Amino acid sequence: MKTKKEYNPYDNYLAVLNKTAETIGLSEDVLTLLSSPERTIEVSLAVRMDDGSLRRFDGYRVQHSSLRGPCKGGIRYHENVDLDEVKALSAWMTMKCAVADIPYGGGKGGIRVNPKTLSRGELERLTRAYALAISPNVGPHKDVPAPDVNTNGQVMAWFCDEYSKTAGAFTPAVVTGKPVALGGSLGREESTGRGVMLALREIMAKRGDSLKGKRVAVQGKGNVGSVAAVMLENEGCTLVAVSDVSGALFCDKGISAAQIREYALAKRMLKDCPAPDGAVFIPGKEGNEKLLESDVDVLVPAALENQIDEGNADKIRAKYVVEGANGPTTAEADEILEKRGVVVIPDILANGGGVVVSYFEWVQNLSNYYWPEKEVNEKLEKKMSASARAVWDASVRYGCSLRAGAYAVALDRLAAAAVLLK
Ligand code: NAD
Repeated sequence: MKTKKEYNPYDNYLAVLNKTAETIGLSEDVLTLLSSPERTIEVSLAVRMDDGSLRRFDGYRVQHSSLRGPCKGGIRYHENVDLDEVKALSAWMTMKCAVADIPYGGGKGGIRVNPKTLSRGELERLTRAYALAISPNVGPHKDVPAPDVNTNGQVMAWFCDEYSKTAGAFTPAVVTGKPVALGGSLGREESTGRGVMLALREIMAKRGDSLKGKRVAVQGKGNVGSVAAVMLENEGCTLVAVSDVSGALFCDKGISAAQIREYALAKRMLKDCPAPDGAVFIPGKEGNEKLLESDVDVLVPAALENQIDEGNADKIRAKYVVEGANGPTTAEADEILEKRGVVVIPDILANGGGVVVSYFEWVQNLSNYYWPEKEVNEKLEKKMSASARAVWDASVRYGCSLRAGAYAVALDRLAAAAVLLK
């Protein structure tokens, strides 16, 4: 069996792409177009550290496809970032934007760094160096980055400022996920977690099921996981397990999702937070492994990729797995879950809420006209429901899983653009 480190996420993408291409009879041309990224940028960033030394960091930006519009996708700061990971993430963005039916292609970026080891000044200099290095290849109508793991509105603000200097004009539409004070959209921060709930609610409705009374486990109490937990709690679910990199908290009577969101916003690790009465905390990897195998109705992996693999897929007890994270399930595990009848709501549908509101932010920036939060949330709900219904319908039409259904929706839309252009 492969270890987590040996999984190549780009192979995972290709496996699903090829399988779906066969199911829906995709043309060879479109398959060829989508099998490799259009552009791969590697940069080596020289950054002055606080102690006066000069350090180099590896950075990447991959533009997978611009068939349906400018490339779109986040920037990740993590010590495990490498080209294969960024390539896979960029390809998933192509699919995600097509499933959401927004006029974007797919891109993704990353820097191989543990940002927690950097001071604020070092992080700013690193971000500005990265923005400058890739500035010729990004822009509102070329490629529009956004936050991802370990990046946030502040990082986007620095990126936007550096790019604006090279453009000679304030250009907020070059990135999304900006703070509201710099042209960010109301509702963007919560959009991915809100979308996770909306996608699950719509798929459950199609199955004659509902969120009321469901027991939920969330892996990763970051931006996606903590908001998803709150949204699910608002719909009548009970959060019984939640984790972060420090470990997992279990409580049968329920854990307040609102409290977990507060800890997340305050950047407090679970290991340092008070636990509710009757709760058990299991540290680190062991806690996270146990969380995935919890006796719950709904499991939301919302941390990193390759968390559910052939080693634990048989032990997943949830009826629904809703992929808040990108690529949390390996191709091998996906097959096991499908055979066992576990309903997997795939990442390219489930976590599409973030990029949908990113699109709304970009539209607001380009028109310089800003919408109230209620309008953003209503538009998001319409988009997520429509995407979930399209994916459901495709899975019924082709007699396949929701993941294959989501790829089918995306590939149909990409193929429609490809035949007009290529
Ligand atoms: P984040 O940095 O806010 O949170 C990540 C969470 O995962 C943290 O709680 C962290 O402690 C935890 N974590 C990290 N390593 C872990 C490990 N080894 N085991 C268990 N937990 C671990 O990131 P985020 O923005 O919430 O993103 C989470 C996932 O969702 C990523 O896969 C990201 O690509 C995806 N995603 C994010 C967005 C978005 O809008 N932020 C949109 C779509 C998809």
